[in-house]
Amino acid sequence: MYAINHAATALLIKKKVPTAPMILLLVSVQLIELFWVLFNYLGWEYYSISGGKVHLDYLPYSHSVFGAVVAALISFAIINWGYKNRKLAAAIAIGVLSHIVIDMIFHEKDIQLSPFSATPVWGLGILDYPWLNFALEFLYGLFCWWYFKGSKALLAVIVIFNITDLPLMLGGGDSLKPFQEYPFILPTIILFQILVTWYFVWRYSRKTKTA
Ligand SMILES: [Zn+2]
Repeated sequence: MYAINHAATALLIKKKVPTAPMILLLVSVQLIELFWVLFNYLGWEYYSISGGKVHLDYLPYSHSVFGAVVAALISFAIINWGYKNRKLAAAIAIGVLSHIVIDMIFHEKDIQLSPFSATPVWGLGILDYPWLNFALEFLYGLFCWWYFKGSKALLAVIVIFNITDLPLMLGGGDSLKPFQEYPFILPTIILFQILVTWYFVWRYSRKTKTA
């Protein structure tokens, strides 16, 4: 799933736990993606390109069920015991876990149970069907906005970012060559998307229709 719709998940949690700071929720839903970016820079995880597609071959630390549960537990522990806020701790842990659950639906079969074994591995592979991927992600983003009762400006943010993801979703063949030659480009684009979507969703989620 692309950055904007992971970020939109934070809206669902914010609606349930209005006292949770939006910025922390936005970090939580992208926490394991940030690890993916870092681990790709370090060479601990990597992707490949074949058949005109990007394949996230190896991401067992950031994107495994085990990795996500560990990240969620550590986040929970820090906020629950460090800041004595159990409600916020639970909200953040759910945010962290939301990422892996959603990615298991959209990714190719590349999400392992743990880094210690190549199987079992999950992923429904919706990413391989760009228009279906686009439609489902878009609907999900719209649902999050609707559930949150977001402003028109927030709706525009979700619509615009979903549409700008289309070239990346549809891109294939020669357009992927730079990613093959310079493996740091893809994590850098993802990092950039995370930061930009954080900013816009944070900025335009401060006002809702009801408040
Ligand atoms: Zn991910």
